[in-house]
Amino acid sequence: MKTSLLILSAALLTGCGATAPHAQAAPFNVKRCVNMGNALDAPEEGLWGHTIDLSNFTRIRAAGFDTVRLPVRWSGHLDDENMIDPAFLARVDEVMNAALAADLNIVLNVHHFEELMERPDAYAAVFLSLWDQLSYYYQDLPARVSFEVLNEPNGALHGAGVRQLQADAIARIRAHNPDRTLILGGENWSGLDSLDTNLRIDDPNVVYTFHYYQPFDFTHQDAPWTGPEGPRGVKHWGTATDRKKVRTHMVQAAQFARAWGRPVFLGEFGVYEAAPEPSRLDYLQSVRSEAEAAGLGWCVWNFTATFPVFDDQRKTWTPGHLQALGLSER
Ligand code: BGC
Repeated sequence: MKTSLLILSAALLTGCGATAPHAQAAPFNVKRCVNMGNALDAPEEGLWGHTIDLSNFTRIRAAGFDTVRLPVRWSGHLDDENMIDPAFLARVDEVMNAALAADLNIVLNVHHFEELMERPDAYAAVFLSLWDQLSYYYQDLPARVSFEVLNEPNGALHGAGVRQLQADAIARIRAHNPDRTLILGGENWSGLDSLDTNLRIDDPNVVYTFHYYQPFDFTHQDAPWTGPEGPRGVKHWGTATDRKKVRTHMVQAAQFARAWGRPVFLGEFGVYEAAPEPSRLDYLQSVRSEAEAAGLGWCVWNFTATFPVFDDQRKTWTPGHLQALGLSER
């Protein structure tokens, strides 16, 4: 990581860092991943009940995960000139260094940029400046760190607006990271259908992602943030029809990957903890194994706090979860 933010501002002002030509497609080695959500994506780390304990990364690796996805709310840590707070950047560095030292790949993203979703025209320049800064600052990171351009575009940011913004961000990122793997999620919260409307770009190191929480009534039952209209009451999962649907959906994503000639990554799937545990485990097992059968890398939501696969107080894996994910404690 580049050490000085002063150098960062100077480089951005002078526009140094020429674009190099693309090399071959780098292999995308993300297969078994866990989201480190509810920490750096909260308004402040700790406000959503979780501060990342750096020693957990060795546990994560030992259980058989090869990757962590790191959701980060950069937009909550900008000064009046939209420069990233150096203390926050230092904290993200610390977390990433610990993950790398534990032999994990990282997917680093821009998460919960809510202002951008509400007023894309007003915030597009802030978003692009954010990527200017991150691209410069993180240019020396190993290739095992991928950048995910924007988590779950939604609200007023849709259709051609998303595609244009992603294309503009890629152009800015490529100034300093000509070959780094970039991950793109499409409109409307990056559901399966958004793969079809996502940006097509002639760049061998772009990977597509989608999030899978279907059926939402089951995966989000009693989740408080879904509001008064959200799914309430106990819902089970696991009929033959339920399973067939998951298979069809994963095959659909794999067909997209073949048609576009690019890998597809299932960047989030999971079940809120109010769901009956047998159904929850059954669902995790089914989505995970169908994703694998279809050749898709996956990333379960979430490590701890909500949707927890790990109990961070007791320092134990939530019973049955590693098994459902095809992993085991070593
Ligand atoms: C959001 C989380 C949420 C999860 C499941 C994620 O994309 O960032 O806040 O808990 O989806 O709804």
